[in-house]
Parts: sequence; C-alpha cells; structure tokens
Amino acid sequence: MEYEPVIGLEVHAQLLTKTKIFCGCSTRFGAEPNSHTCPVCLGMPGVLPVLNKKVVEYAIKMALATNCTINSSNVWARKNYFYPDLPKGYQISQYDQPLAEHGYISLELGGSTKRIGITRIHMEEDAGKLIHDEINPVSYVDYNRTGVPLIEIVSEPDMRSPEEGAEYLRRLHEILVYLEICDGNMEEGSFRCDANVSLRPKGEDIFGTRTELKNMNSFRNVQRALEYEIKRQQYVLDNGDAVVQETRLWNDSQGMTHSMRGKEEAHDYRYFPDPDLVPVVISGDWIEEIRGSLPELPLEKRERFIKKYGIPPYDAGVLTASRALADFFETVAIKSGRPKLASNWVMGDLLGHLNEDKLLMEECPIRAQALSDMIGLIENGTISGKIAKDVFEEMWRSAKDPKEIIEEKGLVQITDSSALEAVIDQVLKHNSSQLEDYRKGKDKLFGFFVGQVMKATKGKANPKIVNEILQKKLSK
Ligand code: ADP
Ligand code: MG
Ligand code: ZN
Repeated sequence: MEYEPVIGLEVHAQLLTKTKIFCGCSTRFGAEPNSHTCPVCLGMPGVLPVLNKKVVEYAIKMALATNCTINSSNVWARKNYFYPDLPKGYQISQYDQPLAEHGYISLELGGSTKRIGITRIHMEEDAGKLIHDEINPVSYVDYNRTGVPLIEIVSEPDMRSPEEGAEYLRRLHEILVYLEICDGNMEEGSFRCDANVSLRPKGEDIFGTRTELKNMNSFRNVQRALEYEIKRQQYVLDNGDAVVQETRLWNDSQGMTHSMRGKEEAHDYRYFPDPDLVPVVISGDWIEEIRGSLPELPLEKRERFIKKYGIPPYDAGVLTASRALADFFETVAIKSGRPKLASNWVMGDLLGHLNEDKLLMEECPIRAQALSDMIGLIENGTISGKIAKDVFEEMWRSAKDPKEIIEEKGLVQITDSSALEAVIDQVLKHNSSQLEDYRKGKDKLFGFFVGQVMKATKGKANPKIVNEILQKKLSK
C-alpha cells in the first residue's frame, strides 16, 4: 500500500521581552538558577499577575506577519496539570479565545508556491526547567524560565513531506527573527517544535491516527524524526496493526523515536478562564499602529531584490537570510551601482570569511562602503579581479580602505601598453617551443601565454590589454 504523510507542526517561540509575562523578573538566559524569580512566578498564594504589554505587541506582530485574523477580545485560560516545573499547578495560556486565527505563510517549493495554514497563535507562559542528575537519583528545578513569555503557533495539517515540514519551520523562524521578537536560538529552547504526523492511503480524504514528536532541537532533527516516524508508522500499518495516538520522544544519538506517554486530550487539562486576569481588548487602532511598524519581511525582500537588482532567485535567497546581511548587500549594491558584482562578493568572499571565522554579520570587519569602493576600483580598471581577491583579504585582516591597501602594496593594475608589450615579448622569447606549437595550430596555448604574463606581473597586468596585444603579436 502506498501512503501519504500528513504533517502539522506546533511551534513555541520565546518572545524577546526584557521581563517575564506576568511579573518584573528578567528573562535573561543562563543566569544562576532561581535568581530570576519572585512570588508571582513562583506561584505563591495571594499574588496577582500583571500582564506585560510588550508580549501582546510582539504576538500581534507575528499574527500580522502570518496573515492571521486578530481577535479583539482575548481570554486567558488556566491549563491545569501537576508537574514539579510548574509551581502554580497550572499554566496561564489561552484556549477558546486565542490571540489570532486563520493565517498562512507561503513556501517556495521546487519552483512553485504552497500556502501552509496557520490554525492559531496564542500567548502563554513557559514552565521551569528540570535538571536530572546523571549519576545520583536527584533532580533539580530552575524556575528562571517560569513565566517567560511564549507564543504557540499551530499549523494546519498541510504539509506532505518531512522536507516541507523543515521548510515551513525555516520560514517561520526567519519571520520571527526578522521581526526581532524572538532570538530563534533552538539550542537554548527559544524556538521549539512538536511535530504531528500521520499516514493515510494515497487518495484517501480522511486523516489517519497521528503521533506527536518532541525533543528535536534543530531543523535537521525535525526532518530526521519525521522521516523515521513515517517509516515506523508504515511498518505498523503494513503489519495490519493500528498506529497508537501518543507522544513520542526523539532520541538524537539513536536516530529513533520512543513512546513517552499516551496523548492527553484537551479535557484532561480542565481549562477554565483565569479569574485573576481580565480579557485583553485589542483595538483596531493599535493593530494598525503595529502593522505600520512591521519591517519588510523576507519573502517580500527576496522578490524586491530579484526585481530591483536583477539578481538570480538563488542569490536573493542567500542574501535575505538575515536582515543584517540583506542591508549590507543592499548598501553595497546601491553605492557601487553593480548589484550582481556586489552579490558575488557578499555571497562568496564575505560570507565565506564570516563562516570561517564564525562571525555574525554584525561583527564583519569590512564596511559596506569599503566593499563598494573596492568594486569601483575593479570597475574603473585600477585593480584586476584577481588582485581584488588579495585586497579583500587585506581588508578583512586590517579593516583598512581598499585605496590605502592598493597604494601601500603597489597593487595598481598595469595598463600601460608599452610596459605590457615588453613583458609579453619576454614571455614569448622564453617560451619559444610553445610559440612554435601555437603557430602549428595549438590554439589552446593562448591561455598559457596570458597566464605567463600574469605570473610575470604578479597578477597586476590588465587582462584585457594583455589579450589585445597577444592577439596582435600571435597573428603575425
Ligand atoms: P494538541 O494541542 O492536542 O496537540 P491540536 O488539535 O491543536 O492538538 O493539533 C495539533 C497539531 O496536530 C496541529 O498542528 C494539527 O495540524 C496537527 N494534526 C491534527 N491532526 C493531525 C493528523 N491526523 N495528522 C497529522 N497532523 C495532525
Ligand atoms: Mg500538541
Ligand atoms: Zn517573577
């Protein structure tokens, strides 16, 4: 039997507010355990939560960026369960009146565009973190993360392959980071994904029973976990057995998923409206004000770069991977007036060096102005493209201006015809056997002579003029 996978993803994104959602404690990651806590986030009796307005603003940004309808009245709900990482015994979340619903994002897949529906986005608080001693039968709890603001973004079951799932996650991640509302760090848990997957016979309309996968901390692992789980379910179905609806944990080192617990149902949580918090009423004016503050999103930027600068879609994709990179490219493209050259240098040499030195775009030692100056110097013939590579290296090391480097190192291109003619004469004289072969019809040797001239001038000869002179001399 041939099966079709059906995938829906739930993403938890930590919002980049300075303080927690219902108290003034810091959200900073990596502090001394339990140092960012107070009676509110520790769930002491008698305390009252006070909503952080920034949380709502950031959540609205994401809702607008994913084409959702925003509900004007938002209700907070208590989701009840007992676990040591949850000091109140309930999590403040949203249930039947979430922030936003009915959105979508677009994916570019193999040349076509596919929309993935967003079922809902709601706000909630994070739980604490349990740390289990590897040797002793002891567990520790750190409440620093308790009450850190999250949004949960639930997709429709619209994806049909692990690749589509991973692509959806990358795009969602990209939007959150572009909006500067989430740092997107998957290892620190700022961006977490639960993946739901089921199989159905090809052509069937009704969905099969799903399992929910947890504990994947990279895009690649989400894809691997889905691939494994699809194979596992297929095996179960082929054996005539039924898939059990359950939560399964991904084990990265084994490359397998294991059953963790039966799937809980919504009624297990005894949701009810939180009596300590009034509904949040969101005005149309506020929504429009936030809409006006949204930056250009990655997809729009990509399309604009292709149209405005005439660069290939591939380049546009690479160059819009982050806002900082896109801004850098755009400055170089405008200042140099050579977008394709700007794209080549930024994608090739600049990104190569950043990766090699493990630097962020923000830490790049070369300024956009300096790179566009260098492109200008290639364009006006002061240096060759080859010498420019050396100049770039030196710019990276010393952060000096290209002009300064060229003067200091005497790298100015030789464009003086008589000087080049003298070099060419020398080269032809010293390579008389090759010259003879060339004259007998071995045309390919033309490149060899050019190479020798470049070598003799340490790459400083203007290749165009060398070609012209050589052509003339060799046709005699
Ligand atoms: P819960 O909160 O209990 O996990 P939801 O109904 O909110 O349940 O659904 C969670 C996710 O599961 C959604 O992203 C949805 O698209 C996905 N989903 C629902 N049914 C299926 C299915 N049969 N196969 C794959 N994914 C599914
Ligand atoms: Mg779920
Ligand atoms: Zn607190």
